[in-house]
Amino acid sequence: MEPEKENSGTLINSAIADESKFEYKRILTGDRPTGPLHLGHYAGSLKNRIRLQDRYETFILIADIQALTTNFEHPEKLKENIFLVALDYLSAGIDPNLSTIVIQSMIPEISELTTFFSMLVSVNLLKHNPTIKTEAKERGYKELTYGFLGYPVSQTADIAIFKADLVPVGIDQLPHIEIARKIVRKFNELYCGKLIEPFALIGKFPRLVGLDGNLKMSKYYGNAINLSDDFDSIKIKIRSALTDKNRIHPADKGNPDICTIYSYHMAFSDETLVNETGYNCRNGKIGCVKCKENLFAVIKNLLEPMNERRARYLNNKDEIWDIMLTGTKKARLTAIETIKEVKESMKILYAPE
Ligand code: SF4
Repeated sequence: MEPEKENSGTLINSAIADESKFEYKRILTGDRPTGPLHLGHYAGSLKNRIRLQDRYETFILIADIQALTTNFEHPEKLKENIFLVALDYLSAGIDPNLSTIVIQSMIPEISELTTFFSMLVSVNLLKHNPTIKTEAKERGYKELTYGFLGYPVSQTADIAIFKADLVPVGIDQLPHIEIARKIVRKFNELYCGKLIEPFALIGKFPRLVGLDGNLKMSKYYGNAINLSDDFDSIKIKIRSALTDKNRIHPADKGNPDICTIYSYHMAFSDETLVNETGYNCRNGKIGCVKCKENLFAVIKNLLEPMNERRARYLNNKDEIWDIMLTGTKKARLTAIETIKEVKESMKILYAPE
């Protein structure tokens, strides 16, 4: 494969969807079931999925195979984690009548397509993917497994198998969408294929900082507010969050731009409260304790209806598995159709299927 020539910054921009210009049809989105979803997931992409689910046909993939890229030593945890992620989706407002929730490993055509796509991408391109590089560094990986390096190839197959043209993702995943576009383009050029080059849809707050001020809220760093946390825990977490360290007294003039709490206000509070908070902080008119209480009230308000739905679903756990299995069965029909088309394009459909 020829070395990639394009400038990655330009490519990344070209991968972002412009909702006002394109008429998209189908969304593919999802998460690796490695633990509970948190406010970062909600602000980065889940909110968008809920907003768009009645406008586009939506497939939400619980990517259990991809969870193994970093958790291969504990596959026994997957079943429980799949359940918890589905519970988080439904509690947050994903409507199973509008969105199809799919378990990745139950669609074998995805693995098949991943294998075909892996022929079309250079190891060099995968190695230089900034998301993979950052994650490998953060996790202290000295040697990368084939599966970890190939995660974006598997993700490309997820998107292509369902013929999705729009992918709501957090900003971290943007380089993966560009790789997906390259692979699909190459497939179409080589085999006269008709696969769709997807676009990324980035949430308004694509990356929520962690409670400790770390650039990213993550279950891995233990700096997250989970959607399933109880209110007492959330209160304690908010109290512990990093603020402007130079502020000692409530009358000290602060800088909200370097404050974790203010960034959460921007993500979750209404405009009036955001503006008031910024003004009051800069002019020493509000203490951090009060400011955190205001934020807690906002988060509580956001999570209360989710908690009500969560309680309802927890009373009927079988319903959650039914939703996932029904969704997977429905999604597989599309996957079977796509893999047939892929093989036809590649001229390797040896017998009628
Ligand atoms: S008043 Fe609010 S925005 Fe300002 S530093 Fe304190 S917590 Fe942050």
